[in-house]
Amino acid sequence: MTVSELAEGVRADTRAVLARAITLVESRRADHQALAQELLLELTPAPDAPISTRVGITGVPGVGKSTTIEALGNHLISLGHKVAVLAVDPSSTRSGGSILGDKTRMGTLAVNPRAYIRPSPTSGTLGGVAKATRETIVLLEAAGFDVILVETVGVGQSEVTVANMVDTFAFLTLARTGDQLQGIKKGVLELADVVSVNKADGDHIVEARVAARELSGALRLIHPKGSLWRPPVLTMSALEGTGVPEFWDEILRHQRTLRDAGEFDRRRRDQQVEWTWTMVRDAVLGRVERSDGVRSVRGEVEAGVQDGSLTPALAAQRLLAAFDGGSAPE
Ligand code: GDP
Repeated sequence: MTVSELAEGVRADTRAVLARAITLVESRRADHQALAQELLLELTPAPDAPISTRVGITGVPGVGKSTTIEALGNHLISLGHKVAVLAVDPSSTRSGGSILGDKTRMGTLAVNPRAYIRPSPTSGTLGGVAKATRETIVLLEAAGFDVILVETVGVGQSEVTVANMVDTFAFLTLARTGDQLQGIKKGVLELADVVSVNKADGDHIVEARVAARELSGALRLIHPKGSLWRPPVLTMSALEGTGVPEFWDEILRHQRTLRDAGEFDRRRRDQQVEWTWTMVRDAVLGRVERSDGVRSVRGEVEAGVQDGSLTPALAAQRLLAAFDGGSAPE
């Protein structure tokens, strides 16, 4: 299949072609990557193309991400949207299986023709998964998906990675009696644009509201009065569907606020530039790590740092000196 045939199939939202195109951007083979870049250039949206909504959703396993996406996705489809769900799950690169974007946990959405669910690529580093996901977003938008939901679990850097590829980053949490704030990484609260306390149903409604108030207080410290946007904290029950439309309304309100202040486009442009440099950094680091010079001294230098005979700064100098300028094969 030629690049223009692929592009045509993607634009027509022919699912078999779309899947093939995504496989191409996920591939680490150099010839596939070259084709993928051609395809992405061909699919670059016209300046007047409609703007999609990109939303990140994070939270610990079990908080209800899949249930929320299922409920939210169906709500969005009822509003006339086309919804794509992607996952960024760096742990899947180790376990070989993704716990996110699992279609069996989004049963009704998975079979809806106006939805598309793609699990996290299962090979590569977080950098590689992030690259594939960003490029997949371009493909899905070309296929007419106007809401892109990117699910991630709070592991290491994956939240920051996803926050940097979406317009609104939503954090799901639970009411735990007592010290709700403990166990919530401070960093994730700083990234969040919308916070929702899930499983606010049955006997848990009151404690969910208490947790929401506490979180609101914590967020007020992070975003002082006068900030462009102060993240709201909602309560919802993804299982019963209560609070899900309101959750979406807050996401839209966030994006409207950014747009009105001229921040929305600026944020997307900054993300593109940041993304460019991330790829440069990843590529340079890869060359350093693969270079023959570095490989030949790496063991010795690392041992030196471990036994204290080398400081990390000296070790870094030694490794850079051994770097032979990137003559290693790609
Ligand atoms: P994920 O790991 O974050 O994707 O969480 P899941 O969506 O798989 O949900 C984990 C468990 O919590 C499942 O058994 C869900 O049925 C349940 N669950 C999810 N949302 C709610 C909710 O709003 N209320 C209640 N009571 N249970 C929920």
